[in-house]
This record gives sequence, C-alpha cells and structure tokens, in this order.
Amino acid sequence: MIKEIVTDIEFLQQPCEAATADDASVAQDLFDTMQSMDGQCACLAANQIGERKAIVAYEENGQLYAIFNPAIKQGFIPYKTREGCFSLPVDSEVRRFKRAIITYEILKDGQLVPRQRKFADWTAEIIQHGIDHCNGVLV
Ligand SMILES: [Zn+2]
Repeated sequence: MIKEIVTDIEFLQQPCEAATADDASVAQDLFDTMQSMDGQCACLAANQIGERKAIVAYEENGQLYAIFNPAIKQGFIPYKTREGCFSLPVDSEVRRFKRAIITYEILKDGQLVPRQRKFADWTAEIIQHGIDHCNGVLV
C-alpha cells in the first residue's frame, strides 16, 4: 500500500523497535511507496511511512530490497557529504563510510534469515542513511 511520507520530526527521532517476520507487510508498503515516487526515492525507512520498525528498503540496479534490523558492523574510509531526505526540507552535512560491512536480516519463506554484506559507494551511503533513520537519527 502506498503510504504518505512522515515529516514529523519528533516521531522520526524515536528509535525503531526490532522488526520481525510479522512485518512483511511493512516491507511491501515501503516498496509500493518507493515505486509511486518515479525512481526519485532510492532508500526509505519504515518510520518514514509511519511504522516504527527497523526496516530499510533500498534500490540497487533497478531492483528493490528490504533489509530488517540493519546495523553497521564495520566502516571504512570515512568522508563527509551532503544528503537530502524526503522527510526533511533541507540538506545536511553528514559523515559516512565509503565502504561498510552491514549485518541485517532478510525475509525468506516467512522467516528472518541473517545476512552480512560489504556495501560500497552510493549503495553504502543510502543504507547508512536508512540505518540512521532506524536509530532515530536525522541528517
Ligand atoms: Zn532520510
């Protein structure tokens, strides 16, 4: 279901609770909402559509993925950049890692399965932005 993007700062500053396999519909809502934004939205966190669950959806090579309970395990090559956010009116300077090992879970056959992957460059940046959202951190 396509949802409205939350811009309530107080809501977005509260950390999300751990997501479970019961939150599959939230992941689908993230996909539906991103698809309604004409490719302008590369990454969306569940609290941005009003669900305070640690789920991030992102786009990579034209494909949408949902990761549950993502966390940065290790970051490499920190740098500063400016990022915008669909929930905020202004861009801000943030510190990101150029490459990062991310731990997360994916939903497979109705169960959450742990995964770990090293992301780089743009994809690493948008996932770090999404993880910040899960922790109630805004750019
Ligand atoms: Zn954002």
